[in-house]
Amino acid sequence: MAEQFIGSMRTTLVDWNSQIAPTEPLSSALKVVSVHQERPWMTTEEAQQTTPEITRGTCHCGAVGWEFRGAIPDATICNCTACRRYGVLWAYEYDGQGIHVDDPSSALTAYTCGSKSLSFNFCGRCGNLVSWRALSPSSNGQTRIAVNLRLADPADVANIRLQRFDGLHSFEDLAPDSRTVADVWF
Ligand SMILES: [Zn+2]
Repeated sequence: MAEQFIGSMRTTLVDWNSQIAPTEPLSSALKVVSVHQERPWMTTEEAQQTTPEITRGTCHCGAVGWEFRGAIPDATICNCTACRRYGVLWAYEYDGQGIHVDDPSSALTAYTCGSKSLSFNFCGRCGNLVSWRALSPSSNGQTRIAVNLRLADPADVANIRLQRFDGLHSFEDLAPDSRTVADVWF
């Protein structure tokens, strides 16, 4: 997968070079490539404009909510035995940092399995999957968490790019393409 990605980057560089005058400094071409590496489908400015600074989601009954502060870089869609059943779209950050989960009535119910390194957390009233959360902190002392973007207003997350993750076999990200959350919403 990494080779395919690097291959597409090389193609971008070669195509761009062929369009510039011989006197044009190479740094101009490299600048364009670095933007493409960050988000091949759009410029950084475009990505910031299409993602609100704070994104919120709530479960169907409204008992549990989450807040994601800052731009959401991508939505992970995963084919592991759990995620494919949930049909979930994950946005990752750290608990209490980028992500805050609000559960005032303690409606969340945790499900753990396998190595018991993380929990999937559901609203006990309406059954919606709200988050997964690491059961122990990362090396930086913060706890990894992800929230389900399907609980957000569709318009707020429609333009977030999809990051396909092969959680079933290779356990690696797949090469990015142009699809966004809107492409898998229905
Ligand atoms: Zn609920």
